[in-house]
Amino acid sequence: MTTEEEALRRAIIDGCLTLNDAGVNQGTSGNIGARFGDRLIVTPSATPYAAMTPTSLASTPLDGEPDWSGPLPPSTEWRFHRDILRARPEIGAIVHAHPPYCTALAMTRQGIPAAHYMVAAFGGADIRCAGYATYGTAALSTLALGALKDRTACLLANHGMIVLGETLDKALWRASELETLARQYHHALTIGGPVLLSEADINDTMKSFSSYGLRAST
Ligand code: 13P
Ligand code: ZN
Repeated sequence: MTTEEEALRRAIIDGCLTLNDAGVNQGTSGNIGARFGDRLIVTPSATPYAAMTPTSLASTPLDGEPDWSGPLPPSTEWRFHRDILRARPEIGAIVHAHPPYCTALAMTRQGIPAAHYMVAAFGGADIRCAGYATYGTAALSTLALGALKDRTACLLANHGMIVLGETLDKALWRASELETLARQYHHALTIGGPVLLSEADINDTMKSFSSYGLRAST
């Protein structure tokens, strides 16, 4: 393994631990995948993050039939990690988690509308909630890809969320921003409901982000 690959694998494990420490994820729920050249590296299934080392992670070529290497079975959600990296060449990393506020909205099958300008950090005027399919299935991957069209995040009905980043750092940043946004939206719903921003407001914010350093659409 090259030092570059080992560093990415360590960063994936650190990312899982950081999300759990921040309350964005818990236990062995969720998973992180990243592009390394023409391969997918993904966390192993049902493995406590504190017990992982760089060699614990699973890896497969992105093209063709999966051909896994690694000592443990890959995340059950490897299909959506692979399918997103295949479909979205600009994306380098994917975070999937079950954060409390995102998941509460997903349980009620609501997305997040333009209740705050930060929704623009996810590529448009809303964050969609994908329909329900059993975890780990090709059907869930198809639903997620649809809900992620022109976006860098979606909710998964009765399940959790997926966030994309051009880099792993960007995906981790968006994961915590999305849970914050979901929490703020939930609180606004309890005190009468938010006043929504217009499409033009969100477009202006996306333009502003491109010079502020937060690229909104990719
Ligand atoms: P894995 O432990 O297999 O990654 O599954 C966790 C999960 O969140 C399934 O949706
Ligand atoms: Zn999950």
